[in-house]
Amino acid sequence: MVEGEQSEGYLVDTQNTSLYLVGSTNSTVPSAPGYSSNEFWSSLSPAGLCEVVKQLCDALRPHLHRRASALSSVGSVLLSGPSGSGKLMAVRAVCSCLNLHLFKVDCVSLCSDTSAATEEKVQMAFSQAQQYQPCVLLLKDIEVLGRERDGLGEDARVIATLRQLLLDTDPALSHPVLVIGTTSKPQNVPTDVQTAFLHEVKIEAPSEEQRRLMLSMLTASLPLGKEVSLSKLARRTAGFVLGDFCALLSHSSRAACTRIQALSFPGGLSEEVERDFCTAGFPVLEEDFSAALEQLHDAHSQAVGAPKIPSVSWQDVGGLQEVKKEILDTIQLPLEHPELLSLGLCRSGLLLYGPPGTGKTLLAKAVATTCTMTFLSVKGPELINMYVGQSEENVRNVFARARAAAPCIIFFDELDSLAPSRGRSGDSGGVMDRVVSQLLAELDGLHSTREVFVIGATNRPDLLDPALLRPGRFDKLVYVGISEDRESQLQVLSAVTRRFKLDPSVNLTTILEKCPAQLTGADIYALCSDAMMCAVKRKVEWIEEGLDTEKSALILTMEDFLQAAARLQPSVSEQELLRYRLIQQKFAAS
Ligand code: ADP
Repeated sequence: MVEGEQSEGYLVDTQNTSLYLVGSTNSTVPSAPGYSSNEFWSSLSPAGLCEVVKQLCDALRPHLHRRASALSSVGSVLLSGPSGSGKLMAVRAVCSCLNLHLFKVDCVSLCSDTSAATEEKVQMAFSQAQQYQPCVLLLKDIEVLGRERDGLGEDARVIATLRQLLLDTDPALSHPVLVIGTTSKPQNVPTDVQTAFLHEVKIEAPSEEQRRLMLSMLTASLPLGKEVSLSKLARRTAGFVLGDFCALLSHSSRAACTRIQALSFPGGLSEEVERDFCTAGFPVLEEDFSAALEQLHDAHSQAVGAPKIPSVSWQDVGGLQEVKKEILDTIQLPLEHPELLSLGLCRSGLLLYGPPGTGKTLLAKAVATTCTMTFLSVKGPELINMYVGQSEENVRNVFARARAAAPCIIFFDELDSLAPSRGRSGDSGGVMDRVVSQLLAELDGLHSTREVFVIGATNRPDLLDPALLRPGRFDKLVYVGISEDRESQLQVLSAVTRRFKLDPSVNLTTILEKCPAQLTGADIYALCSDAMMCAVKRKVEWIEEGLDTEKSALILTMEDFLQAAARLQPSVSEQELLRYRLIQQKFAAS
């Protein structure tokens, strides 16, 4: 040691240890090296969400070392995705990856009666978050902040405060506070709030491969039956997000439970045995998944506003074999053989045309029932609205709903009212022209999403805008004609009378001989309902006379049918039929 230099001396007490408590200090969360990455809910890269977690980490990481990188604003990300898509889970994974605390605030709880109170609560949330630094402040459902109240327009004051908090950093902070806002309705987030976020990350609906990965991670600890194929399940769950898969698993486990109870213990299980069963675990079978899927599909189609279609089987449709084949080729083939799609051989639109009452709507319903797809049925006139721009918006919404519920069939009934030839309609401002253009644009957009099919039905294809019938749109035209030969009429008649109780004396062929030569399906339906009215009247008379009781079944006799046949008037006249034939020839030739 050089002389004159000051030195400090240290004394080491090897016998005693003293601990001094001087208050708390903030630090990062220690990373856990033995973290089990197999456990789905705490995984650092959850299946199907890896890409999102990576994007979020990449966006936020520079802000962790703010001093070094001289970034002036708060690191903030707006995370949008459908509800149940795993936004919170992705944020949790990000916090684990970056060793940050998570402070979660539900924006609904910040909303108050007055702007001032809301503003104060928002500020409170931010200052509370600072206590937990370094942390991520998660603002859940951010779109509710600053939204319109009582039609007074956006709440500018709250928005301004939020913007300021997001854009200005507090230099006094030693650790960063990062902000992630989540929303399932990005279109409702006020623009000023949206622009205050530095980054935007979107969670899209998972692809088939991602769905398979999610399923295999979620079912990792579940005993599955041998025949359960996760890839097949992934294919059947298009449009599902993480939340739906959780619902699927709990529904299928419940189905499995019910099945086991009903099977082995018809009298019910004792509590003890049931507990043993649950501990031992019983396999979830393919049939349980199918039952659960059916329930969820129902719920799904109700949520997107698709009406529930009364189940119509092919047996309810008489004849029309050719048309049926055409439709199934268009819709079922690509679903069952996805490899065809990769060749680009795909047709998404089909137009059924022909006289009214020939069973076009009935056919579409039968298709929906057989293909187990979501079925959106829209009548053209329903979409037309008197407000400017609303009709186009309605058309857009129908397609957006269909894409959300894919695989899906959109059925446009009375298509001619929705898409008349452009430039001809006499409405002011060309509303219909814009609707047609919107419809065309949406149809063209369908080629990227291959699981949405469109079926149109019209009585007047000659009125349609010709652009609609171009290849790639409604390029397949199918004529649904009226039954002219007795053979096909018989098929329709037996389909309609399938549910009735007939007297053994009834001979369907003889009935048809008494009818006019040209009958549509609807005419035959009218014939049957007329016959049923006769039978009901007779039965009422008999009951009044005490000859019959209400309990006995209603039986239709030959006499009822003959009376009805005598009164039957065909709904499509010779002249009209001729016109339809001409139209058919015109379209067949073009
Ligand atoms: P469109 O849509 O062609 O105008 P619909 O499908 O609405 O006609 O048919 C009206 C009714 O006629 C149906 O509800 C059904 O009861 C009956 N119908 C029509 N065609 C058939 C058919 N091929 N088989 C059985 N019933 C039919």
